[in-house]
Amino acid sequence: MSKPLLYIDVDGPLNPFDAKPHRRPAGYETHRLTPKAWLERHEGTPAHRVKPLRVILNPSHGPKLLNLADRFDLMWATTWEHDANEMIGPRIGLPELPVVEWVRPYGFGPMGAFWKTAQLIEHADGRPFAWLDDDIHKTDREYVDYKHFAPALLHQVHPAVGLRDDDFMALADWVANLGQAAA
Ligand SMILES: [Mg+2]
Repeated sequence: MSKPLLYIDVDGPLNPFDAKPHRRPAGYETHRLTPKAWLERHEGTPAHRVKPLRVILNPSHGPKLLNLADRFDLMWATTWEHDANEMIGPRIGLPELPVVEWVRPYGFGPMGAFWKTAQLIEHADGRPFAWLDDDIHKTDREYVDYKHFAPALLHQVHPAVGLRDDDFMALADWVANLGQAAA
């Protein structure tokens, strides 16, 4: 049986962008980065005039995610797309990971769901998956229940807090239970 997928968002779980700028949470380092998605938000401004995005990253997150790689297939599911491999992974100790490429424009999802949700269901194509994101809400859970006929863990991470040990434990517990259910 193939492993479940683990979809990883950048802004929110790895970069808790809502944390107070003057109070960087413990363990994080500040970076100034200019991903393509950031330039697109400043359409019309020449690239050299766009102020880089302030990104805070915790280098312990890479090893903690990699710890799960024997039980999950890790995958980027972020507007950073391939820039996540370029700019985020190396800064937290993650190897290159496969990338979900979004269908643009992002627009709105069906049934009031977040725009990523339907695309991830389509990408998962019936495989069990866990998903780390700050933009997960009730409508996303309802849409996944309605459309996806395999186990799924939609794990919301607060964008002021980022990933904590509890979150890694929740993923480990979920995948352990999944194995028991299948046995
Ligand atoms: Mg996000």
